[in-house]
Amino acid sequence: MKVGVPKETTAGERRVALVPDGVTKLGAAGLQVSVQAGAGSEAFFTDDAYQKAGATLVPDARELYGAVDAILKVHAPSLEEVSWMHAGAVSISFLQPSTNAEVVKALARQRVTAFSLELVPRISRAQSMDALSSQAGVSGYKAVLMAATRLGKFFPLLITAAGTVTPARVLILGAGVAGLQAIATARRLGAVVEAYDVRPAVKEEVKSLGASFVELALEAQEGQGGYAKEQSEEFLRRQRELIGEHVAAADVVITTAAVPGRRAPVLVTKDMVARMRPGSVIVDLAADTGGNVEATRPGEVIVLNGVTVDGTRNVASTMPVHASQLFSRNVSALLLSLVKDGNLKLDLTDDIVKGACLTHGGEIIHPRAKELLEASTA
Ligand code: NAD
Repeated sequence: MKVGVPKETTAGERRVALVPDGVTKLGAAGLQVSVQAGAGSEAFFTDDAYQKAGATLVPDARELYGAVDAILKVHAPSLEEVSWMHAGAVSISFLQPSTNAEVVKALARQRVTAFSLELVPRISRAQSMDALSSQAGVSGYKAVLMAATRLGKFFPLLITAAGTVTPARVLILGAGVAGLQAIATARRLGAVVEAYDVRPAVKEEVKSLGASFVELALEAQEGQGGYAKEQSEEFLRRQRELIGEHVAAADVVITTAAVPGRRAPVLVTKDMVARMRPGSVIVDLAADTGGNVEATRPGEVIVLNGVTVDGTRNVASTMPVHASQLFSRNVSALLLSLVKDGNLKLDLTDDIVKGACLTHGGEIIHPRAKELLEASTA
């Protein structure tokens, strides 16, 4: 099997789907890897490093797509890129079927077997393939550093000859993978951290990281598979009322709340931002899915009454070395689970294939993707 790694074409994207270590690993499993020249340059992986790991360099994207049996990518391929793939080829990426209906249809027409990394089931066998988690961990870490850089205060308690400096107060809203990493990072920097999540199951994890769990007089909102379920507008209104005083007391608020496949819930209103002290900082990691903060402008950093609201998108891409390295391990693990003796061996009854494979043999085979596409064309 020949595997291709193109340069990402999404504006501002610095990650690459496979790093040189991944080339070596796939090579050891009998796969031949071709890499588009410059594919890793934004993440500091040189063409030379890829060649030393055993990859063949291909100068042109179109040539690469046409020459391989599997394309590994961070973002979904464009319609043009799909048209360059041959029938029976495999595509693995964050395909985001809910917003990429035309690409999914084109992949089916082209008879590509396409996998969506967001849909890899969160079962223990698939943990090594969980790119959502690996990238969320990167974002959670980086969000704290972004906030610390903008805050005009120390994070830790300092006792100095010039007097005592009180520690920063950090509030994390949403304690999933990104939120837990943000808690751990803020604690390492010495801040006093509190966190809130609608799923009470995370309370012990929050506490074990040295943060306190914010208890609100609200019912639990645990959905399926360890995710939150969609909340009613009435629930969110009461939640905003109760969380307001915690937001007002914080120097830093990091929001990570999401419900899979839905717009992010608004947890922090403009009025709540107006009650924060000037100089406070909010980093809204949900900016990519609409934002948890009413004032967030996705892709921008704004200042409202002295409060910075950072809506940077695609935060994982701002740490391209480790984000790519982790993504590379996830994507290699998924690809190798589909290969036997160097050839594709697809078991359509396997839970991982059933969960994450969207198109195969000219059809859209994933029931949820089918529903989404029908809804998008209705
Ligand atoms: P996510 O990105 O979908 O959501 C982030 C967090 O926001 C979640 O913890 C969710 O409960 C929370 N949230 C949603 N609405 C909220 C609201 N109104 N107020 C406050 N918080 C709200 O989730 P994720 O981080 O990708 O994963 C969530 C959970 O899935 C993990 O914590 C874990 O339990 C589970 N998980 C399991 C595996 C595995 O078993 N392999 C891997 C990764 C995650």
